[in-house]
Parts: sequence; structure tokens; C-alpha cells
Amino acid sequence: MNGEFFGKGVYPLAEIGRPTKVEVNLQHIRQNLHAARQHLYPGSEIMAVVKADGYGHGAVAVAKTALHAGAAWIGVALAEEGVVLRKNEIDAPILILGYSSRDQIRLAISERLDITVYDMETLDEVRKAAAELGREAAVHVKVDTGMGRLGIQAEALDESWLKRLTDSPRIWWRGLFSHLAESEAEDPAYTRRQLSRFLDLVELLRRRDAIPPWLHLANSGGTFKYPGTHFNMVRFGLGLYGLPPYPAIADALRPALSWTSQVAFIKRVPAGFPVGYGRTFTTPGPMQLAGVPVGYADGYRRGLSNRASVLIRGRRYPVVGRISMDQMTVAIPPDHPVARGDTVTLIGEDGTERITADELAEILGTISYEVVCGIGTRVPRFYTER
Ligand SMILES: *Cc1c(COP(=O)(O)O)cnc(C)c1O
Repeated sequence: MNGEFFGKGVYPLAEIGRPTKVEVNLQHIRQNLHAARQHLYPGSEIMAVVKADGYGHGAVAVAKTALHAGAAWIGVALAEEGVVLRKNEIDAPILILGYSSRDQIRLAISERLDITVYDMETLDEVRKAAAELGREAAVHVKVDTGMGRLGIQAEALDESWLKRLTDSPRIWWRGLFSHLAESEAEDPAYTRRQLSRFLDLVELLRRRDAIPPWLHLANSGGTFKYPGTHFNMVRFGLGLYGLPPYPAIADALRPALSWTSQVAFIKRVPAGFPVGYGRTFTTPGPMQLAGVPVGYADGYRRGLSNRASVLIRGRRYPVVGRISMDQMTVAIPPDHPVARGDTVTLIGEDGTERITADELAEILGTISYEVVCGIGTRVPRFYTER
């Protein structure tokens, strides 16, 4: 299956034959969803979070797969991301998790995307746009229980808010949510504090008989670690892709993405041979140098220069010299069999060896999220079921 199946034009390069490509195993996506379900508090549903083009995996393919496998909702960051899903015949409820401008609010209402509101101004803009468009607008109120980001302070959700939420005929108050700041951390104390703030608010609303249909707090870390944060939905992102939010859960998940390229050429060089811009690497002895047509413009970041490894024929070899915009070089001992056209694995498995997004993230001093989101749009995505 290729990009075509999931919507024309989503990955226009997928038909052409670039050897640098991403393969996403949809069977693994299903298995990861199943792993989440085994941890779910009974009665809780899954929102598959596919923002940033499905964490680089392809939002349309992942959303369709997750919905077929039983996810109830889809989460995106921007109205525009929701529109792409609607254009590809995804009819499920979709929540925009992030900030929406006035124009994005209008787009969201037209496309039946649920809008996150986090201040009175946004709520008023939603009311106004809904009235102008003559449409109903579904909203989820986001409260800040200790993340210090998007969300009103829990204490601020007062009578005037409730009145505006419940008195407007065109506003459908469909959800209340908050976000955990460190659900993957070893120490549960802070998550407990956030949960208890959220619970206090839910209790307050219950007393006023003003509970919206959906309450949600957990991300992937919360899904696996804290059933008390599940309410009736979890927002499941990282884990869906098989990337572990914390190391102990890795065995329950299967990474869905592999990123490969090809050996474009091999050349045999003597000792003392410089490689790449700035000559940051010089061969210590006779060597084979393999050129690989992938670079930082594809998201294989320059910070990996002289630090990362790749897999060829089931063995690990170092990336040497600076990574360029469109190419990089791998050093191979002179007696190892490699050939032009061999598969080069940047992320994924080859034989018994494996390179994870976490491995690259560690080198770069970042997290796996940023590694997979950073894979460029000029890298075609393919979908497999193996
Ligand atoms: C991205 C996001 C999630 C998903 O988080 P993961 O750690 O990837 O599971 C959940 N909720 C919100 C508000 C988000 O922005």
C-alpha cells in the first residue's frame, strides 16, 4: 500500500522511487492501540492523536487505521490538520487540541471539528462565528492543572463561564480536559497533584449538574501508568506509534516506523582521507566509504554527524564526517561485504540489530517525538502490514 490509498497528493513523492523512504507498519499501530486498551480503565475510550502529520508517520493512514481498530476520537493540533482528515473521508469526531485563531475557528466549525477553548475571548469568538455561520460549534474546555501552558486556571471556571457554555444555543459543550506535565516521570507526586485538581473541578461541576459528556486528562504516559487519569477518554499519541513514553513500557509496544535509504556508491580510500564539509573526519586506515542519499533536509539532523550509526546487512556502521543537506557518509572496514544498492537502515531493524528513535534522540539531546516529527515531507511514506 502506498500514499495513494490514503488520499491523493498526501505524499506526492511516493510514486516516484526515491530510495530514501519511511515505511509504517499499520499492523503495529493496531497492536499498540490494543496494548493501550489492555491498560484502559473500563469504559474509557481512545483518542488517537495524529497531530504533526501523525508524528511524521502520516496522519491520514494512522487515523484510518486507529479508527478501524476501535479508536473513538482523533486529536490534531490545528484546524488545518483536521481539514486534511475530513477531505480524506474521516468522519469521526476530531478535537483540535491547540490554539485556534478566528479564521481557524470558522474553518473548524465548517468542518465539524471540536474546538478547544481556554479563555473567554476564544469562547466568545466561537459563539460569534457559530452565529455568523448558522452552525453549531462543539467545544472542549481546557483547564490548566499544572502544566502552565494552554488552559484556564481551574479556579477560573466560574459561574460566568458556565453560563456562557450552557446558555448559548449554538455551543455544544462537549468536553473538559487538562494535560499532564510529567506522566512519564518515575515520581508520581506531581501527576497526583494534577489529578486531584482536575477531580476537584469535576466534583464542583457535578454539584452544579454541569458535567460535559467527555472528560479526559491522560496522554500516553498516563494511559499506561495512571488508570485514575483515564476518566472516559485517553489521548494516546506517542504510544500509538510504538514509541515508549518511558523505558519500562517499551516491551509492550512495537515501533511502527522504519526509515531506510540505500548505498548510492562505495569507494575505497586510503588512510588519511578527509570526509565532508570542514573535514571533521579523516580515515584512520584504509576503508570503504558508502555514500547515502539522505541529509538534514530530510530530517536526519546535522547533530548526528560523527555520532550516529546506521545498519547495513545487519551490522552497525558509523556515520562519519558532517551530514550534508542531502547526503552523508558511512565508514565500513575494508573487508566487509557491502554493495551499491544495499539497504541502509537509519531507524528500524535489520537482522538482530535495531536503531530506535530514542537512540537518535539521545545523541541529539532531545526526545523521540522530535526525531519522528522531524522527518521531512520530501521523504515518501509507504504503508505495510507485515
Ligand atoms: C500531543 C498531545 C497528546 C498526546 O501525547 P502523547 O504523549 O504523545 O501521548 C495528548 N494531549 C495533548 C493536549 C497533546 O497536545
